[in-house]
Amino acid sequence: MDIGFIGLGNMGQGMAANLVKAGHRVTVYNRSPEKAEGLVELGATAASNVAGACTGDVVFTMLADDQAVEAVTFGEHGIVAALAPGATHVSSSTISVALSERLAAAHAEAGQRYAAAPVFGRPEAAAAAKLFVIAAGEAQVLQPLAPLFDVIGQRTFVVSEQPHTANLVKLSGNFLIASVIESVGEAVALVAKAGVDRQQYVDILTSTLFAAPVYQTYGGLIARREFEPAGFAARLGMKDVRLALAAAEQLEVPLPVASLLRDRFLTLVAAGGGHLDWSALSALTDRDAGLASDDSA
Ligand code: NAP
Repeated sequence: MDIGFIGLGNMGQGMAANLVKAGHRVTVYNRSPEKAEGLVELGATAASNVAGACTGDVVFTMLADDQAVEAVTFGEHGIVAALAPGATHVSSSTISVALSERLAAAHAEAGQRYAAAPVFGRPEAAAAAKLFVIAAGEAQVLQPLAPLFDVIGQRTFVVSEQPHTANLVKLSGNFLIASVIESVGEAVALVAKAGVDRQQYVDILTSTLFAAPVYQTYGGLIARREFEPAGFAARLGMKDVRLALAAAEQLEVPLPVASLLRDRFLTLVAAGGGHLDWSALSALTDRDAGLASDDSA
């Protein structure tokens, strides 16, 4: 299939590479062009602008946030202007429910197809084609995309015919992960201050009652205080909690824990930690508990 791929950051790199390796003709575009170099070596073609990546049957976007997706989609030479009628925009970025609704309407008006396919899994999972794809869109739009989702992920879940529902599911999941990071950070600080080894504590939890990937991954990062390089940056985590709160306000569902997390992320970002992995929320707890960052306990 002829595929465009826009957004070659931590996630997009691996996703685009797997599409190339599966034998698709992939044209990539990234705002900072040097990120396309490795993919060109693999066999992709580099486009010099957004429109150049919109000449095929499908164009994926894997961009940072709403602002980036808006710029790339609605710009003068953006996706809506460039994509052929009948071709599909697959939005995999974690974006707001409201923007996903706008994208669906704009593509429908232009005679184009649109699907939301946000993903669960960090950059390592993207590189290993182990993502979980949360897909939503009309059946005839999703059906030809299924083989592409199989290339980038280990499993696809179709949640609705309404694309924005996939974005809501994704945001709710990231809200849950942020809650886990905060609570594991608090529990680790509690026992560490009493002299318990951080790693041993996490090993106990994650080999017994909490033997789930999210506890294992983030428990390990928190125990080791391994916040750089960021697999998922705190500023993006803050964005997702904000978008979950916006969706919750729209649906009139109070999320008091998300409100607390928003302030925790704001504290981290205001202290200069926006570039750190979002597991660095636990560094705030350590600091508040008077635990030194080189404290090996
Ligand atoms: P990232 O490494 O920060 O990459 C962001 C990408 O967006 C880069 O290609 C960047 O281009 C581009 N971009 C940002 N602002 C732009 C703008 N105004 N115009 C054009 N391009 C712009 O982020 P990531 O970790 O790959 O995440 C991408 C998306 O996936 C986000 O929505 C994130 O929430 C979601 N996600 C991330 C993870 C994870 O663990 N990392 C997991 C699941 C979902 P430049 O290279 O030019 O800056």
